[in-house]
Amino acid sequence: MYTIQGKGVSGGVANGPLCFYRRGDHDIAKHEIADTEAEKQRFESARQTAMEQLKALYEKAVAEVGEEGAELFEAHQMMLDDLDYVEGIQDLIDGEQVNAEYAVSQVAEQFAQMFASMDDSYMQARAADVKDISNRVIGILSGAVAGGIDSDVQVILAADDLAPSETVQLDKSKILGFITQGGSGNSHTAILARTMGIPAVIGTGDALREDYEGKTAWIDGETGELFVEADEITHERLSKKHAKQRAMKELMDQLKGKENVTIDGRKVMVYCNIGSPDDVDQVLANDGGGIGLFRSEFLYLQNNDYPTEEQQFQAYKTVAERMGGKRVIIRTLDIGADKQADYFQLAHEENPAMGLRAIRICLTRPEVFKTQLRALYRASAYGKIAIMFPMITSEWEVLEIKRICEGVKAELRKEEQPFDENIELGIMVETPAAVMMSDRLAKLVDFFSVGTNDLTQYTLATDRQGGNLDRFFDAHHPAVLRMIKMAADNAHKAGIWIGICGELGADISMTETFMALGVDELSVSPSAVLPLRSTIRSINTAENREKILEDLLK
Ligand code: PEP
Ligand code: MG
Repeated sequence: MYTIQGKGVSGGVANGPLCFYRRGDHDIAKHEIADTEAEKQRFESARQTAMEQLKALYEKAVAEVGEEGAELFEAHQMMLDDLDYVEGIQDLIDGEQVNAEYAVSQVAEQFAQMFASMDDSYMQARAADVKDISNRVIGILSGAVAGGIDSDVQVILAADDLAPSETVQLDKSKILGFITQGGSGNSHTAILARTMGIPAVIGTGDALREDYEGKTAWIDGETGELFVEADEITHERLSKKHAKQRAMKELMDQLKGKENVTIDGRKVMVYCNIGSPDDVDQVLANDGGGIGLFRSEFLYLQNNDYPTEEQQFQAYKTVAERMGGKRVIIRTLDIGADKQADYFQLAHEENPAMGLRAIRICLTRPEVFKTQLRALYRASAYGKIAIMFPMITSEWEVLEIKRICEGVKAELRKEEQPFDENIELGIMVETPAAVMMSDRLAKLVDFFSVGTNDLTQYTLATDRQGGNLDRFFDAHHPAVLRMIKMAADNAHKAGIWIGICGELGADISMTETFMALGVDELSVSPSAVLPLRSTIRSINTAENREKILEDLLK
């Protein structure tokens, strides 16, 4: 048995084979090939496999975001069938007697350069598409796997770390748990694991070795341990823990349908954080009262080009309809920093967390912003949508956002498109500036939602992506809690509600403090809803309120 110690960031235990994430960045070195006919055949069969994958993706996208949103995958199939492209690769294999991977990468580069040099911006954008289809073919040729998981059974997925764009494309039905060498508690792998309600361990370092591939392991997301080929005693112990976990879940299930109310009658809204329309299943299964944060980045991260208005509209409409009139707070795109999409072509930044991200991109590229806003307003006709803006620091930003929103509304009225005239607009309070200006900002919006992940990062000047900063990244720090208090007091003075949608919201050791601070809503991973409900129902807010506030301010 090998025991690997990391940090548990999503609780629970699971047992299954370890499988390492297959990435598409493979060796495309040039090799000389003697049998070029066989090599061309190898290319042809990879091309056919890619075609089948694209057909399947097209059908999945039609079901999720409608015909128009799926068009990209159809266009990719046509590109992959393009005679110039296919013959270019075959000729290179023949003429230079080179391996297929190399030939595909060379022809992809030539085509991409040709597209990029065209005047028409639509054609320029095709450069990314040709690279994308070529990477797919190269991936197949070199044994990489679509969705990153090469297994027919459910696995514990191991990786060095996973980028946001990688997590959105994972085949989630195959994952029992996550284990990564790097990462942080706020990384997207951790957030995804909590959404799915499965264990995750991060920060194992080199102890997690690729030669454990395929070996059976137990993962414990509470203690941060991974046991490869567990001995009998460990197997027995964790099997018992697993059974207890199931029993606990059954107990929690009894809270479904009950109110989130304290002993002394204070009601709290418990909503969910989601990252894609698929996550609504988990929200409904865990009896979430609404959606407090829909990270809309998923649409941008899984695409190779800006998602169209229609594609976005379909996704937002689906979520609004499925939530059946419950509040769905959709956050406008938060691209930048660690969430990169190549086609945005953002310049390299020395300090991306403080760079052009989130609302700053939207206000710099109003056309991208307006497309998303149009989709959001149109979807508001199908449910109770609210819109939230990330990374706000100043009043002028909110005033400009509201002006753009009014423009979008006027356009839609003119086109006679239905939308909710009274849609609520809120902001994330996730910068110290937003807290310090919260008295004035509260007068401009309908609600606040505190993003404790970024608020901790910016208040404590500590990178949320981890490194060796765990000791310093302390979301319980009084500086952070005092900020929440200030924002809550100012929200209430202006008559608006305030929630928390950062990861701290699910920390049940803090629930009583949040009640004392007057927080009205907590938005958490779906799997945290029922444990949080149980905690809220055990609190008497009057009991410790004075003491909690005194301790915080002394
Ligand atoms: C936050 O910063 O706390 C937050 C909820 O937003 P994200 O984690 O997406 O930056
Ligand atoms: Mg944030």
